Amino acid sequence: MNDHFDVTAAPNSAALFARASRVTPGGVNSPVRAFRSVGGTPRFMSSGRGAYITDADGKEYVDLVGSWGPMILGHSHPDVIAAVRAAVDRGLSFGTPGVGEVALGEEIVARVAPVEQVRLVSSGTEATMSAIRLARGFTGRPKILKFAGCYHGHVDALLASAGSGVATFALPDSAGVTRSTTAEVIVVPYNDIEAVRAAFAAEPGVIAAVITEAAAANMGVVPPLDGFNAELASIAHADGALLISDEVMTGFRLSRSGMFGLDGARQGWTPDLMTFGKVIGGGLPVGAFGGRADVMSLLAPLGPVYQAGTLSGNPIATAAGLANLQGCTDDLYRHLDATALALGDLASAALAAAGVPHRLQRAGNLFSIFFGPDEVRNYDDARRQNTTAFAAFFHSMLDAGVYLPPSAYEAWFVSGAHDDTALARIADALPAAAQAAAS
Ligand code: PLP
Repeated sequence: MNDHFDVTAAPNSAALFARASRVTPGGVNSPVRAFRSVGGTPRFMSSGRGAYITDADGKEYVDLVGSWGPMILGHSHPDVIAAVRAAVDRGLSFGTPGVGEVALGEEIVARVAPVEQVRLVSSGTEATMSAIRLARGFTGRPKILKFAGCYHGHVDALLASAGSGVATFALPDSAGVTRSTTAEVIVVPYNDIEAVRAAFAAEPGVIAAVITEAAAANMGVVPPLDGFNAELASIAHADGALLISDEVMTGFRLSRSGMFGLDGARQGWTPDLMTFGKVIGGGLPVGAFGGRADVMSLLAPLGPVYQAGTLSGNPIATAAGLANLQGCTDDLYRHLDATALALGDLASAALAAAGVPHRLQRAGNLFSIFFGPDEVRNYDDARRQNTTAFAAFFHSMLDAGVYLPPSAYEAWFVSGAHDDTALARIADALPAAAQAAAS
């Protein structure tokens, strides 16, 4: 028994953070967890149930992060836990095709019309990385067009002007990404269709794919302007390029078929490839990319585009993901929509009452609040917000037992377990937090 791993030896967040900081850079395994942009000591969680998480000090919080998206049914949902327990009893990993991954693949294909075939991977990053390789392999072209402030995981090429943790730390790029890598990436402002047109006009026949978040949610929530995604599809297709719609965040969260169900299915545009993660793993590591069968058939072993993974389609992870997806019913989406609407309005009303300039922005049931007066349509707009006011708001909510995303650039996540009791606890905390943001 190694006592370094006995959490009872350091039963509080401050002590755990000190220990973690000795063995892990910054004390965290993913940067936004470190509270750098809001200050203070990150809370180390020891359990989660329903809408609540509990830290190592025994303090309970209403959770509005939901593991950044996967916990759409709430923490420790009995169906997901039961599916995982049953899968564990059958064995942890085989490195062969398995029973569970077939069912998860079928469920994804059944829900999202543009996905004729899908391949499972272990994270959203792997999904986008593989999708851009496949788009390059299919088109034989080198360049990728992305939008400033859209985050697609920590793929080298896609860390050019990314949002999320990169936005939080205001790094335009990451050290360690070579210039030759980003030379093949064109970055234009989000929601700026003329910039997209100009990029294609400047280099016809060179762009393999446009990759976009189906609704941007990693610079705060910035919905696409009406018709933006449809125009993207038509401009890309006119040039022979592919459209990759990244639904790692929005997939299976905004509707049965994600943002596509709210936008593409209604406006009649179709992405060629889509990427997923988060909800399809139910809290375990799963990602996926899929789309047109003629494109997907270029993947090894059928075609020349190599892509693989020791733990891809892992039986425990796919069991969790399938159970999670099966809980994503029409009733759940009605609940998420109503809860997000009520919560956004509550927060906005509290800030308005305290005189805090802010902007509530939504894409379906994902929303965030920008601490500034103006509408946010792109990354430059997002960066004009008052992050100091957000930090004060965040800490007041944290003290009152509400765990918000520890960054002004992230969406707030609700779940099927956020009920009136959880909302009332948030409502009680809001006035003081709004006052803190005002001062
Ligand atoms: N794409 C989007 C839109 C995301 O929001 C994220 C993660 O937040 C990713 C890709 C990367 O996913 P992962 O963190 O699982 O690698």
